[in-house]
Amino acid sequence: LVIPDFASFCRDISSMFTETLKNEKGKVADYIPQLARVNPDQFALSICTVDGQRYSLGDSGVNFCLQSSCKPINYCLALEELGEKKVHRHVGREPSGQSFNELTLNAQGIPHNPMINAGAMMACSLIDRENNIADRFDKVNKTWKALCGGKDVSFNNAVYLSERQTADRNFALAYFMREKNAFPEKTNLTETLEFYFQCCSIESCTYDLSVAAATLANAGTNPLTGDVIFQSSTVQNCLSLMLSCGMYDFSGEFAFKIGLPAKSGVSGALLLVIPNLMGISIWSPRLDPLGNSVRGVEFCERLVERFSFHQYDSL
Ligand code: GLU
Repeated sequence: LVIPDFASFCRDISSMFTETLKNEKGKVADYIPQLARVNPDQFALSICTVDGQRYSLGDSGVNFCLQSSCKPINYCLALEELGEKKVHRHVGREPSGQSFNELTLNAQGIPHNPMINAGAMMACSLIDRENNIADRFDKVNKTWKALCGGKDVSFNNAVYLSERQTADRNFALAYFMREKNAFPEKTNLTETLEFYFQCCSIESCTYDLSVAAATLANAGTNPLTGDVIFQSSTVQNCLSLMLSCGMYDFSGEFAFKIGLPAKSGVSGALLLVIPNLMGISIWSPRLDPLGNSVRGVEFCERLVERFSFHQYDSL
């Protein structure tokens, strides 16, 4: 067992959860009404170790939309299909140092990395591109299902419609990329954007998403089903970018303090990966000014304070 005394580990997790629950700072995302209406007090946390031990607390069965936490998986799908070289002809792997939807591209005229909006739309344009859009979405959906251990994920159509309605910035980014010839040939811009909004609108709960995080911690093999979802080289690339770019404009700070790959989303979602040990899914809707879940970040801070999980704690 990777965590020999799981019961005592869970007791520690539970007391950190209770402490973190007291934090009521931040505010829910309000750029679409569907997110603004979510009960901000909710807090959920689930753990799944690479050998399948599980623990959940709080609202771990409540669904929320993935938002930006869909980005690492879309990047993995593009990598699996096209390989590192081809994918990175269209998207960089450098932190942008700017906000996730900033109207900017790198010096080559491509998005800085796949964890910001421009790069995530680019990843969508690369997934299964010979196929029709319905099958392409199905592929993403099925991948999440496999990552979560076989349980279907949901889709929030209201979130999707709202995202599409208020997408001026994302459209601007997409046109900017098209102007720079950043997309592969014959990319349908509207279809690509809609595909991206649909991926952001996939819903699941921390109980299931912790298995997806654990699959990344386990180099792409689902610890519960034994299914190989991604090759280890794909996961390695993905975790590298989650570490450097996964937490919006807090990514450098997070890498410094927490030292673990993670990806957040404006729904208050946070996927945390402790390589070779466990995946953690956290959700609490109140966000800090940079867009990360306030309680999500606080819990991570408490976690590495208590346990030597920071990548360089072993030094
Ligand atoms: N749907 C949001 C957007 O594209 C995702 C934002 C996020 O979670 O960072 O603007």
